[in-house]
Amino acid sequence: MAPAEIAGACSFRESFRGRQVYRWIARGASSFDEMSDLAKSERERLAALFPRLYSSEPAAELEDADGSLKIQLRLRDGAAVECVLLEDIEGRKTACLSSQVGCPMACAFCKTGTLGYLRNLGPDEIMEQFHLLQKRRGEISNVVFMGMGEPLLNLGAVRKAVAILTDPEGIGLSARKVTISTCGLVPGILDLARNGPKVRLAVSLTTANEELRSELMPVNRTHGLAELKAALLEYQAATGERITLEAALMGGRNSRPEDARALVRWVRPLQVQVNLIPWNRVPGLPFVEPTREELEAFLDILEDSGLVASRRMRRGRGVMGACGQLGDTLRSE
Ligand code: SF4
Repeated sequence: MAPAEIAGACSFRESFRGRQVYRWIARGASSFDEMSDLAKSERERLAALFPRLYSSEPAAELEDADGSLKIQLRLRDGAAVECVLLEDIEGRKTACLSSQVGCPMACAFCKTGTLGYLRNLGPDEIMEQFHLLQKRRGEISNVVFMGMGEPLLNLGAVRKAVAILTDPEGIGLSARKVTISTCGLVPGILDLARNGPKVRLAVSLTTANEELRSELMPVNRTHGLAELKAALLEYQAATGERITLEAALMGGRNSRPEDARALVRWVRPLQVQVNLIPWNRVPGLPFVEPTREELEAFLDILEDSGLVASRRMRRGRGVMGACGQLGDTLRSE
């Protein structure tokens, strides 16, 4: 909730009290009892009104040998989502947050896509993922909406969470440290371009081969590559920001030299950074991981063409917490 909403919900007579409570929650308070600048009687009144500050609770926690932490949250209606804390070699902590319970986009290479879709998350349920991860692991420097769900299908809640994440009185992250990742939902990209927030945008391109993309990502049957590119050009013109294009590479499918060359041709004149993600194994899905040679050859073609490209470090795979793996502990619909 924003400070004014908190003031209303708590029936404060002085509106600045809403801001006080907001700041405490942003700092990770677990109960009204911790809010020492409120009178004791006021804290007791609030605790009786709202017995719990959090609507969800951790149901399971899994820690990978590489330090990644995956938390499964049980939501107020019994549904569950997962979020992940990833730490790089310099110690920077990134929270990977979910925006939906399941996902309706059904990308063929993604575990979450096999679960079906149940509902959107509220901004509270998004922020609670952040707070839980931060409580476990300390200060988080980056947030990526790359967990379960398509964030641009739940832009209202994501916008509200981003507003709290980037509010100096809230979490206080720079907008440059927040990334929204989409499978290529054109209306959402245009909405972001026109109405903000001006965060970083990542697009899961996967392949620049139209037919193959439609096979792997059903979104492409509605919003094809030409439409996606036009939307990204508009986004870039509106924000001046470089876009990250992600490609989960599956051995022998979209990892061939001709796929790399098609990507190079498609990208121009966008200003992008290409992030290659060796596909992370999901039992039951009909793909294989790319070989090291496939990956290196793909990367060489991109770099030789002058593109800024990198290979994503694999983290969280030991707990099925890496890209495309979320939802393995949850029931398929
Ligand atoms: S990759 Fe993203 S958009 Fe596609 S099914 Fe998985 S969670 Fe949904």
